Amino acid sequence: MSNSGERWDYDVAVIGGGPGGSSAATALARRGRSVVVLERERFPRFHIGESQLPWTNEIFRALGVRDTIAASGFIEKWGASFRGPDGPDERYADFQNARETPTPQTFQVLREKFDEILLRHAEKCGARVLEEHRLVDAVFDSDGVTLHFAGRDGGADTVRVGVVVDASGRAGVLVKRFGRHEHDPLLLNIAVHAQYEGIPRASGRRAGDIRMFTRPDMGWLWFIPLSDAVISVGAVIPQVVHRRESRPTPEESLAHYLADTPAALPLLERARRVSPARFDADYSYLATRIAGDRWVAVGDAAAFLDPVFSTGVMLAMQGGLEVAEAIDSGLRAGDVSVRAFARYERAVRGRYHHFRRFAVGFYDPAFRKLWYSRPPLRSIFDAVVSVLAGNWRPSATTRVLVEVFFAVVAVKRVLLRLGRLRRAR
Ligand SMILES: Cc1cc2nc3c(=O)[nH]c(=O)nc-3n(C[C@H](O)[C@H](O)[C@H](O)COP(=O)(O)OP(=O)(O)OC[C@H]3O[C@@H](n4cnc5c(N)ncnc54)[C@H](O)[C@@H]3O)c2cc1C
Repeated sequence: MSNSGERWDYDVAVIGGGPGGSSAATALARRGRSVVVLERERFPRFHIGESQLPWTNEIFRALGVRDTIAASGFIEKWGASFRGPDGPDERYADFQNARETPTPQTFQVLREKFDEILLRHAEKCGARVLEEHRLVDAVFDSDGVTLHFAGRDGGADTVRVGVVVDASGRAGVLVKRFGRHEHDPLLLNIAVHAQYEGIPRASGRRAGDIRMFTRPDMGWLWFIPLSDAVISVGAVIPQVVHRRESRPTPEESLAHYLADTPAALPLLERARRVSPARFDADYSYLATRIAGDRWVAVGDAAAFLDPVFSTGVMLAMQGGLEVAEAIDSGLRAGDVSVRAFARYERAVRGRYHHFRRFAVGFYDPAFRKLWYSRPPLRSIFDAVVSVLAGNWRPSATTRVLVEVFFAVVAVKRVLLRLGRLRRAR
């Protein structure tokens, strides 16, 4: 597993220039590694996933890009509001109150602009970025990897590297070759979304917040301000409901779900769709294998969690930072076999399950009931908000408070079941 005296063209190739890939490339280049990024699209390109979390600020800092992001005119986000189907009750998660969160303000980003900033930053840090270059095949041997790719003009070419990072998002080019994406049976949802104008925003400090409306069928809507005029609107709907309720086109399906969520209607009176509607299925999942000899996956290629708490970009970028450390140490030690990535893989799986518990909870009526009722103790609520702010390594105290929250959810679940049984008699 060493270079054996052979010269690679680059130490590392990163497949995909999204947030996961560009973070890995930046962190590797800043460690002095030679890196090439192969990205099949030309940036800027559309991507869904606009709402960011406060904990992503720490990653921006580690990559040296926080000042550029902060100066790019993205909408400031301080929290998330949730509104239930029955009446005006609102639960506000104010990141200012989140425990252990050094920078509570984050951003709502137009992903085409955000992803391009991150990719150009990787380039500035020394990574070679080849857009409109699509990976076609990867041939592994004991001394390195030969990548075959289709270039801009459609012509084929190769590059020889020591390690490959699969950052190809939900395509998962290597993950699907060596394993598969295992779908989460408790998070079988679809999303349909578009951009709108003419939707009133909240005022003051809360003007940039994400607003969510939950539905009795356990689906929900998001409203994410992207600029003074444009708001991203999406519906996340359980697959079983969508099978019944879907309309012939994404536009009609989205219009149907919006019209069918009465609590959101006041926002939609003058709403005008200004982009095509898009449909996303195939989530959530964890890859059966996240690494192998000379390859490792990052971001959505490795795992994708339901977007309910906007964790995707943060998880991808944190993974990018950590994978760079694992590759750099592996190359230094002359071992980039699967062993070199064991700790990284444990971290990715651990973080997925940490947030999954909340995502699954959100589709549980007992969790929602507690979420919308008065918090039993303010500190418990603030601990939950801390995790929703992206806290993936809570202190022991925060963990205990979160456990108390889930214990109360469990009691509520039993009470709801008993109530249903009593009514059925
Ligand atoms: C409906 C929905 C809503 C979401 N909302 C949010 C949100 O509010 N906040 C949030 O943080 N996250 C959200 N996400 C998740 C977020 O979009 C992803 O987690 C994030 O983009 C992952 O980054 P990545 O770099 O792993 O993958 P991507 O951003 O998908 O980047 C992968 C890149 O790989 C390239 N690629 C693919 N195949 C090849 C190939 N063969 N050769 C070369 N390049 C290739 C692609 O062109 C792409 O640019 C949402 C996701 C969905 C589906």
